[in-house]
Amino acid sequence: MRYGFDAQRKGIWKARELEQALAQRIQVPHAQLVSSGTAALSLALSAMGVGAGDEVILPTFTFVASMEAVISVGAVPVFADVDRSLTLDPDSVASAITERTRVIMPVHMCGSMARMTELMDLADRHGLMVLEDACQALGGQYRGKPLGSLGHAGCFSFDYVKLITCGEGGAVVTSSPKLFERLEQGSDHGHDHLGVDRGADDHPILGYNFRISELNAAVGLAQLRRLDEFLEVQKRNHRLIREILDSVPGLSFREIPDPKGDSGSFLSFFLPSEQMAREAVSALAGAGLGGHFHWYDNRWHYIRRWQHLQNGNFMYPLSAELRKSIMQQSNRAFAASDSVMSTCLSSAISLVWTEEEAKARGEAIAQVLQTVLKGSMKRV
Ligand SMILES: *Cc1c(COP(=O)(O)O)cnc(C)c1O
Repeated sequence: MRYGFDAQRKGIWKARELEQALAQRIQVPHAQLVSSGTAALSLALSAMGVGAGDEVILPTFTFVASMEAVISVGAVPVFADVDRSLTLDPDSVASAITERTRVIMPVHMCGSMARMTELMDLADRHGLMVLEDACQALGGQYRGKPLGSLGHAGCFSFDYVKLITCGEGGAVVTSSPKLFERLEQGSDHGHDHLGVDRGADDHPILGYNFRISELNAAVGLAQLRRLDEFLEVQKRNHRLIREILDSVPGLSFREIPDPKGDSGSFLSFFLPSEQMAREAVSALAGAGLGGHFHWYDNRWHYIRRWQHLQNGNFMYPLSAELRKSIMQQSNRAFAASDSVMSTCLSSAISLVWTEEEAKARGEAIAQVLQTVLKGSMKRV
């Protein structure tokens, strides 16, 4: 238990220690640990005062948790297109803004950043808040600032597939003391943590239990100490493979608004057509080169396959009006996103590859892609 038991715990406060270390790392005054990245997003939206009937703009390409969090607070997810940065297209966001919009939620997908300058400007001009979903981007930066520190709040996940893990866990970071107070209380049933014990705490707001445990936090602390080491290996392997794929004619690469800040967890590139992207992903798998993702066909990450959302199969009943708005938003056509996502493949970068292994993998990927590109061109 992260709170109380002062006498028994002998001065050991792992969650607090991790919060301090994370805040320092992200260069913000406040970090609130929670039980998952999904909990972090839901809590952050609640703390921002987002609720019934409000609209939150988020990209068509993300993990389902982003839209689940919006719906969980009773708001409507309004999807904007992604461009070749694989994150929010600022023009698409601008045209999605209505009088109900409260928050823009950029998602720093696959370890690399959204177009934060344009998105922050847009938010400023319309008086909106920005919540960064940085769940996949711990260690990434934009123009020298850690991802997660640029918006009004930023969320992280420490689940088992992220760069560092707590087993399960998440965090919200913010520079706002007011927001932090609500995050801190809201994540623990609204306790103000000012009493001599829990029984003596006041409850200024009604909250929920999104607490992390000391055990998970202890694992996270050990992992965070290794973040720089992980980033160094990941970026090196990313660079080695990129250098090899650069010479494959017909390939183009994801646009990275600030290449220096890319954490390097994936190398994403475009083939000339959807058909070639499909051929490439199966040829790569056939050659024993797993870890390639054609997100367009993926059930978790791209709106095209979110049938549960489009059909309105929500876990809990929503008001008829809310259900209708959500279904309208999620059943629109997203032609611009489709053309980006249908031709894109992402190659996962592992921490366990040595330099030689990364180079050998790069050569093998290049060979397969060259064959696919040549074969397809011959048929054309
Ligand atoms: C992993 C992830 C989440 C949710 O994190 P959990 O800890 O698994 O709940 C949210 N958004 C994105 C973009 C993610 O990748």
